Amino acid sequence: MENILKQLPKKAKDKEKENKKLFKKLRKKPPRHLDTLMIELHDKEFEKTDCLSCANCCKTTAPWLNNQDVARIAKHLKLKEQKFIEEYLEVGDDNEYSFKTVPCVFLGFDNECSIYKVRPKACREYPHTNRRRFYQLETITIANTSICPATYNILEALKKTLPIEYSEKGGKPREKFRRGGG
Ligand code: SF4
Ligand code: SF4
Repeated sequence: MENILKQLPKKAKDKEKENKKLFKKLRKKPPRHLDTLMIELHDKEFEKTDCLSCANCCKTTAPWLNNQDVARIAKHLKLKEQKFIEEYLEVGDDNEYSFKTVPCVFLGFDNECSIYKVRPKACREYPHTNRRRFYQLETITIANTSICPATYNILEALKKTLPIEYSEKGGKPREKFRRGGG
């Protein structure tokens, strides 16, 4: 995994242009089955991805926390919400909270999350590759291809699965082969 993570930023950079084109095409004409397809590709990838040998998201990015996250985690830690906020969180420009420190203070040496059951919604949903209307998530997904090997793989699998008109070279749909004349 160490090697995979080391090579990932370069691999992601190499695919950035292609991935941006893909999102442009997806937004222009989202395939009808995209939501189902994304769930399938996401589940298939996470069947083989061992997040405990990676934890790169928890090591490199701070998740946003909403008010429910704050209340739930503070309660779990038996802290008053204000105390939890002061000790662990900072407030962003849009008044959302995020953890003060990266790597995450709740990440153990074994890559286990010590507040797993009450972790923020953003952690539960990361890397968002099974979300509905996936075509709306260009910025975050392309950023995640350099952090999360699963996201990189899911986008590559998506490109292989979609019809030719969504590929980099693809313009018009391929003519269907018809047997017989006329
Ligand atoms: S709360 Fe848990 S899942 Fe979320 S970043 Fe921290 S260690 Fe990772
Ligand atoms: S979600 Fe992605 S970055 Fe996070 S631990 Fe799993 S594979 Fe690694």
